[in-house]
Amino acid sequence: MIFNDDFSMTINGQAVRSTSTMPVVNPATEDVIAEVPDAVREQLDSAVAAAKGAFPAWSARPIAERQAMIAAVADRLLANRDDMARLFTAEQGRPIGGAEWEIDVCAQWCLAVSQFTLPVEVVEDSEVRRVEIHHRPIGVVGAITPWNAPLLMAIWKMAPALLAGNTVILKPSPYTPLSTLKLGEMLRDVFPAGVLNIVSGGNDLGQWMTDHPGIGKVSFTGSTATGKRVMESAARTLKRVTLELGGNDAAIVLPDVDPKAIAPQLFWGAFFNSAQVCVAIKRLYIHSDIYDAVAHELVEFAKTVSMGDGSRQGTDLGPVQNKMQYEKVRNLLDDAKAQGNRFLIGGDVPETPGYFIPISIVDNPPEDARVVTEEAFGPVLPLLKYDDIEDVIRRANNSDSGLGGSIWSNDLDQAHAIGERLETGTVWINEMFAFLPNAPFGGHKQSGVGVEHGMQGLLEFTNSQTITSRKLASAS
Ligand code: NAD
Repeated sequence: MIFNDDFSMTINGQAVRSTSTMPVVNPATEDVIAEVPDAVREQLDSAVAAAKGAFPAWSARPIAERQAMIAAVADRLLANRDDMARLFTAEQGRPIGGAEWEIDVCAQWCLAVSQFTLPVEVVEDSEVRRVEIHHRPIGVVGAITPWNAPLLMAIWKMAPALLAGNTVILKPSPYTPLSTLKLGEMLRDVFPAGVLNIVSGGNDLGQWMTDHPGIGKVSFTGSTATGKRVMESAARTLKRVTLELGGNDAAIVLPDVDPKAIAPQLFWGAFFNSAQVCVAIKRLYIHSDIYDAVAHELVEFAKTVSMGDGSRQGTDLGPVQNKMQYEKVRNLLDDAKAQGNRFLIGGDVPETPGYFIPISIVDNPPEDARVVTEEAFGPVLPLLKYDDIEDVIRRANNSDSGLGGSIWSNDLDQAHAIGERLETGTVWINEMFAFLPNAPFGGHKQSGVGVEHGMQGLLEFTNSQTITSRKLASAS
């Protein structure tokens, strides 16, 4: 398999190209590194037809066969790890080590999902009747992914959707289609034709998927604004939707922590992947007793972190992934400066090639500053001072978002009690990014609808079916 060229879609098990193509840019150099198919509507129609055609046989297979094929995805990913990581870095910008991490997690995820089965619950087994709850696959699932973690987002959707017996049409972000298209190519001989289809195109293609009457469910990860459009459009055919959307996660640091010891964890919790993580720390609330010490340690740690082209050894952070996001983050920085917010480090963007935004830490801006209220999705972090627990919980919850949050303390009971009061789908205590295949993940409020992962996430790829049967002796 060639990794740096010849990008094709996978439809009905075949390589498919398109009459028009779209360019893919390396965000570290701004060079166009590839052209990929820009699917036309008829190609989506043929992917839907293939997925519908494959569905009866795929869903009827014993689950053990589907489990084995999902486990085989892990083998393929690991067998192609080095080439895939290089391609990932070239399109996404994240340094090689972080690209390899994502591929490894994808492989582990497939193995974990391959252990799942669909439960049959017996809610009544009396003399009168037996009542069973089954879970049936929905049909064709449309999976739409963003650009910050293209492979992981793809696996998080396709592995459980396929395990549950659905067939899949997966559309990566137009900014990062390369690794997903190659994933499709490397799996052409793993799944039967039509079971997993990968299509590339612009935002229109996503819209066509949410409109398409042949698709029964859309699993979407992306921005809250787009998520609303997806839900609106899916409503016309009453598609099921799972929406994993934006966040503005608060971290709350209690006064009993050791500032030097937690600074690296807080730093990576905020800045991993150049802060392009939905559940990154986006507002860092620090108790005033230790505010200066934590701020100092964070800045000292930040000075040890290198930023550059992720393909170079020793680079810790890469660029922002695309020009649109780069301009958005620059605008946020300009606003912070215009408002007189003080930077502890960073703030000035160099005029060099590549979408590089330096690590920027803002010193206690007002609570209503844009840099606090908006999800930057780039390396800009406001540090915020608090004195009172009630006040900080109120401020943490004062957001339309409710994706995740974290609490940092040596008092686990107090941290837990605070966590229970956060209006978020996930709470991490003294750790970050603990994504687990068996624990549901999703957003409260405008951070999403439904969950991924765990049994709850798996069941979102099914319709519930209740079967009641009257016992023969009492049927008359
Ligand atoms: P985006 O909403 O711009 O795009 C996401 C995907 O939707 C892309 O594939 C895009 O082509 C497609 N799309 C665009 N318009 C569409 C439409 N009208 N109908 C259907 N599909 C359409 O998001 P993005 O900029 O790629 O990603 C960044 C956002 O994603 C951030 O807000 C981040 O917080 C969020 N995110 C959330 C999670 C989570 O699990 N909650 C994970 C990662 C990223």
